[in-house]
Amino acid sequence: MAGFYTGRNGSDQLSVFLVAIALVIAVAASVITDETARIATGAVAIALALWAFFRMMSKNIGRRRAENDTFLSLIGQSPEKKARREEKKTHRFFRCPKCKGMCRVPKGKGKIRITCPHCGEQFIKRT
Ligand SMILES: [Zn+2]
Repeated sequence: MAGFYTGRNGSDQLSVFLVAIALVIAVAASVITDETARIATGAVAIALALWAFFRMMSKNIGRRRAENDTFLSLIGQSPEKKARREEKKTHRFFRCPKCKGMCRVPKGKGKIRITCPHCGEQFIKRT
């Protein structure tokens, strides 16, 4: 087993999500009384679980990472958005009155003169 996971994608958020959905569907399938519908629903759960397993075992890590990034941005958890949320805790964002460009300034500095990095316009804001 040593080295089995080397060079493989391993579990990521998308795979965990797929397994979770597969479990929910499997539980839902178990309470369906109609046999054909139960088997069909169960097959969907198995397909999702297999997909998750395939992704974890995949050696095409670049491709899998891209899929995971797409998934994360779909649920609003993309690394860029996350970084932006973190920035909002420590920085404030103002629009330049002249060029409407975004200016980022550190929070809690009181009244400060902001120089727009885009056009050089200066304006006073409280942070
Ligand atoms: Zn400006």
